[in-house]
Amino acid sequence: MTLASRVTVFFLATLAVVLVGFSCTLYALAWRYVYRQVDERLEAALNTMVAAAEVNSLGVEWEPSERTMSFGRGTILGAFRWWVIDDGGLRMDGSVDRAPELERQGRGSRAAGGRPVSVAGDGGAAWRVIERRLTAAPAGVAVDPADPPSAGLRPALILGAALSLEGPRATLRNLGLALMALSAALWLAALALGRGLVRRALRPLALMAESARGFRAHDLGERLPTPTTGDELQELGQSFNALLGRLEESFERQSRFTGDASHQLRTPLTSIQGQVDLALRKDRTPDEYRRVLAIVQEKTRRLRQIVDALLFLARADGENQDPRLETVELNSWAAEFLAAWSSPRSDDVRLELAPDPAHARVQPALLGEMVANLLDNACKYSDPGTPIRLRVEIRGAIRRLSVADRGQGIDPRDLPHLFEPFFRTDLARQRTAAGLGLGLAIAGRLARSFGGEIMVASAPGEGSTFSLELPGAVETRNAHPPAEPELAAAAGNSACGP
Ligand code: ADP
Repeated sequence: MTLASRVTVFFLATLAVVLVGFSCTLYALAWRYVYRQVDERLEAALNTMVAAAEVNSLGVEWEPSERTMSFGRGTILGAFRWWVIDDGGLRMDGSVDRAPELERQGRGSRAAGGRPVSVAGDGGAAWRVIERRLTAAPAGVAVDPADPPSAGLRPALILGAALSLEGPRATLRNLGLALMALSAALWLAALALGRGLVRRALRPLALMAESARGFRAHDLGERLPTPTTGDELQELGQSFNALLGRLEESFERQSRFTGDASHQLRTPLTSIQGQVDLALRKDRTPDEYRRVLAIVQEKTRRLRQIVDALLFLARADGENQDPRLETVELNSWAAEFLAAWSSPRSDDVRLELAPDPAHARVQPALLGEMVANLLDNACKYSDPGTPIRLRVEIRGAIRRLSVADRGQGIDPRDLPHLFEPFFRTDLARQRTAAGLGLGLAIAGRLARSFGGEIMVASAPGEGSTFSLELPGAVETRNAHPPAEPELAAAAGNSACGP
């Protein structure tokens, strides 16, 4: 079942329940109102009749001539009958249209405590009947001397009145029919309109699904048609398009990465092949063979570096890297690291420590790789003799380890790409051929695996500062020796390392 059908069915079922509930309630209220009207009318008529009877200690006398007895032939509510019967069953007075069946069934009302009851009258018609029995008053009620008892005096009189229910019932029936017709008309109108409206409301969704079906796997530049309805569907379309944008970006990055990786691998391979082909063309002297082998060895070493770095990046991307982190005090760690780190520019490096112990959770060996890489870059992209600063700082809950140089700096346009694999600035390419553009990509992934991040601030001609920011940690007793830099060499950044 389509979403449009499900929504329509739900909405129509709800409407049906509401309409039926509303109609039933309205009908029940009308029914009560009409019956109360009938009963009140009957009781009023009976009270009029009771007033027309003279009750004293000797008996009951029917004196209609002394009272106004006007019920009319019928009422707005329907046909009306009344009767006065003595104890012996003799009809003393009553409406012109006699209703023997009603008079017979009137005692049902007396049995019900004098409340009106519904009965089937002559011909099976429905009536509401009320009856009351008047008996002689207690002995205390004296006979009025000015009004001596007449021959019409009876020990008891039965007064009854009946109102036809045909009129009220017809009214209720009409009301019921009207409610049913109105409800059905409303429901059918909702069915006709609702389905169209729901379909129209969900049309953007159908369009999005249709256009998504047409997307080709390799073409991530396509986007869903987003409705401008300002509702959840627009939000869905926009979110999905944003996801497609991110996927496209990642896909392009991956393709670039593969292209760059192939290029980086092909260059030393072509060079090796060229050298070997040339050497094999004729017999060479041992010195010449040695020279070619040395070139092959150098190119192979570079190939290995690339492959190692690529493997690391592939693993860092593929597996959810979770290096075993340990709490390290960065001041003492940095001092020990620098003592173990040797470089032709060791004298240019200044160490600035935080005034207080700075603990952070890291993997010391990998932190060593990262800092060695940053120092190596600082050496490569700044002139000998210019200062390089390794600084430990505490900034609130953050522990910061930064490497700053006064070198060539980085063009602001290159900053967003700095941590992409194989990215190298033009300035860097002009300055040194050494480098693969993988060191910072690896550093970025390592920083993330420590739960921190690496940032760069740079101005062309003024120098660069690379900062690793880590969440602070509580001191533990473990002490960790700084690691020997290994991955820095793998990433090809060995220009001034040991
Ligand atoms: P590599 O140094 O091997 O080229 P990296 O990934 O370490 O690769 O660095 C990527 C690029 O970032 C470098 O090619 C260079 O253009 C730029 N870069 C890195 N560190 C510095 C620095 N300290 N000063 C200027 N540019 C830098």
